[in-house]
Amino acid sequence: MREYTTSETILANIPYAVMVLIGTMIIAYAYGLTTLAFTAAIGYLIYGAIGALWIIIFVCPFCAFYATKGCPCGYGMISVKIVKKSSRNCFPEKFSRHIPVIVPLWLIPVVCGGIALWISFSWRLAGLVSVFIIESWIILPIVSVKHGCVDCPQKDSCPWMVIPDTAQRLFS
Ligand code: SF4
Repeated sequence: MREYTTSETILANIPYAVMVLIGTMIIAYAYGLTTLAFTAAIGYLIYGAIGALWIIIFVCPFCAFYATKGCPCGYGMISVKIVKKSSRNCFPEKFSRHIPVIVPLWLIPVVCGGIALWISFSWRLAGLVSVFIIESWIILPIVSVKHGCVDCPQKDSCPWMVIPDTAQRLFS
């Protein structure tokens, strides 16, 4: 099993963090930087943090990398401090059940930005939405497959592989 260093795990978290930050900016900007817009944007930011915690609590205990430095993003080492280990055989089922909880993170900024652009077009907002789509729908899945999934013993049974496999086929 390959073990990841602290700096590698920090690097692995950057694409997700950048995605959530750009999404937060889109929501705040799309609705005119008003109090309501900032409230919605902070809600999205909190949702991003809860999404990561959700995976740590409900998926990582079933993973082969739980409690090991083989977890490319370090969640497995956090999970061990919060929840007990569970059966690896349930990993695909748990992954499929819980990943939809975080999928809206990839969609909400695009929907909010798209509606705002439809109402009143702005090149700045269009640029932000484009950067979000490239970062979250292309770069993030490719980083995942190149950085972590490539070494994972569970990749053949992991539903996440559908996304990076597709991205890799499209952009390689
Ligand atoms: S590889 Fe994924 S599921 Fe496994 S411990 Fe790390 S973050 Fe959790």
